[in-house]
Amino acid sequence: MIMAKAKTKKTIKSKPTRPSKVVKAKKPVKKSAAKPKAKPAPKKKAGYFLGIDLGGTNVKIGCFDSDMNLLGKTSVPTNIDMGPQYVVDQMGLAGKNLLSSAGLDIKDLAAIGIGTPGPADYKKGVIIKSANMPKFVDTPLRDMVSKALGNKPAILENDANVACWGEFTMGAGKNVNDMIFMTLGTGVGGGVVCNGRLVQGVSGNAAELGHVIIYPGGRLCNCGQRGCIEAYASASATAARAVEAVRAGGTDSSLKHILDKKGTLTSKDVYQQAAAGDALALQITEGTAEALAIMCVNMLHTTEPAQIVFTGGMIAAGEVLLQRIRHHFQQWVWKLKPENPEICFATLGEDTGIIGAASLARYSLLNNLI
Ligand SMILES: [Zn+2]
Repeated sequence: MIMAKAKTKKTIKSKPTRPSKVVKAKKPVKKSAAKPKAKPAPKKKAGYFLGIDLGGTNVKIGCFDSDMNLLGKTSVPTNIDMGPQYVVDQMGLAGKNLLSSAGLDIKDLAAIGIGTPGPADYKKGVIIKSANMPKFVDTPLRDMVSKALGNKPAILENDANVACWGEFTMGAGKNVNDMIFMTLGTGVGGGVVCNGRLVQGVSGNAAELGHVIIYPGGRLCNCGQRGCIEAYASASATAARAVEAVRAGGTDSSLKHILDKKGTLTSKDVYQQAAAGDALALQITEGTAEALAIMCVNMLHTTEPAQIVFTGGMIAAGEVLLQRIRHHFQQWVWKLKPENPEICFATLGEDTGIIGAASLARYSLLNNLI
């Protein structure tokens, strides 16, 4: 299944607004035989949306109106060890409280979007097995959340795809139709928008970009395979490569002093020391930039995006890292014709997950997909 961007694009605002009236659909227009088939314009439905970002530590929930203005948001501890029903009950309670604080009632709720870590059977809305949520086994999460929130329509989607959709509809990708999205944290998540549609795959697990192999036989990845981009460019991998390099003899690096002091390194340490000119930190950063650039070249030849958007801890590295990615991109890309996709950072910040989930719920409802 693929999903297309809703036509409406508006700036996120925090100002609450009252429900808009149902806008009657226009009378059907006779199709011209000369014109290509077009999807009928979706009916506009009034209502409010909840965007839920289910993480291992916290559940973030945002309440949005039909123009995707943020009316309010909340965050509650996930308490993942308490099991699915407890988590869903807390989610339902927090969602209802959020609606109430926005002056709304459950009857005002139009649909719910939920982003969770993969893999899962997103088409069926079921978490089959999750490394982050061990008690969620064959859990019909989508339907459970729907039941906890007035049996409203709901959609379950991979959290990286949700973030991608948020950036595409409301953030960095607002003005493009083809976008690649990568989020660099403990792992590397990805999203692909092609021809204005979110690529989801057979069971909704498309765009696991972190596990694209860039160096066969290379570093061991969390997934069990070797040479995945995640094993080089995630925040954790960047930090791990720095620790290894220090232990392999980087004695005059400022990273060694930090490692000796803290007993560990983070990707932020690496990027900060690189910005300060530390040679070893620059070398590690260069390795991350090159790995990401190879990924960009591969994606260019897969979907020819107008824009490649990065987010996560690497944003702390700033423009310097982007410049190195662009440099290596030009090094590895073919020379048959100029290729200059915009390589940039995401703009929505910490609310990407709730914005994307709500935006996806709205799109899915408008297009009768839920
Ligand atoms: Zn992998």
